[in-house]
Amino acid sequence: ARKGKTPEDVVKRYWQKVRNPPEEDCTICMETLTGPSGYKGPGVASISRGESVGRLVQCGHLYHLQCLVAMYNNGIKDGSLQCPTCKTIYGVKTGNQPAGKMEYHVIPHSLPGHPDCKTIRLIYNIPPGIQAPEHPNPGKPFTARGFPRHCYLPDNEKGRKVLRLLLEAWDRRLIFSVGTSSTTGESDTVIWNEIHHKTEFGSNLTGHGYPDSGYLDNVLEELKAQGITEVEERH
Ligand code: NAD
Ligand code: ZN
Ligand code: ZN
Repeated sequence: ARKGKTPEDVVKRYWQKVRNPPEEDCTICMETLTGPSGYKGPGVASISRGESVGRLVQCGHLYHLQCLVAMYNNGIKDGSLQCPTCKTIYGVKTGNQPAGKMEYHVIPHSLPGHPDCKTIRLIYNIPPGIQAPEHPNPGKPFTARGFPRHCYLPDNEKGRKVLRLLLEAWDRRLIFSVGTSSTTGESDTVIWNEIHHKTEFGSNLTGHGYPDSGYLDNVLEELKAQGITEVEERH
């Protein structure tokens, strides 16, 4: 395992045993916390029953240890953990975006709804390739449709903040993923992850264009849900 840590080691970094759990259900397996984990899959058999229930240290949500380890095993195993109830992130969340390029520049045109500033154009380019171990079907090819994909932000203070955070999201491999496109139904292809982009410039026929007065705030929330926020200035 990565950095010599087993999945159980990773989970235990963020988890604390609770001796007398309440009469509540574990929201991963839907079984009571006072009984054993309902998870029956592989990979967790060696975990002792004696330390079966605990809380995530920051948010306090309670789970069977085996359930958290199983959840971690089903993800991309990057050393981070996200509470399935409140989405609190432990460690630094990274994704499985394939290799590619992200570029941007300012173009001297205004977006509908942002008449007072120029526009930042982002260009993403990801070539097709072979799936890595962190992808759904390792060893199998994936396709990449519609690249380069062009996206737009207003070149104002909030737009530039979104740009800075998107650059961080790119470095953490969170902008794209490999999976099944909900638009085309194609599997094993590069798809947008959970951070919306505006790919239409002069209109909003697709819903992925401007004007959209809520867009910048929405995308800041989506970035936050992935653990990407700007460090506030210290006072
Ligand atoms: P998807 O259909 O699995 O959807 C994932 C997320 O992306 C959803 O939240 C969806 O709302 C959003 N999304 C869907 N279409 C979008 C669009 N045109 N612009 C911005 N966001 C969009 O994701 P996907 O398969 O990556 O993208 C959907 C389709 O859009 C694909 O067929 C892709 O080829 C096409 N596309 C083409 C271009 C192009 O320049 N030709 C650019 C972007 C997307
Ligand atoms: Zn459970
Ligand atoms: Zn939580």
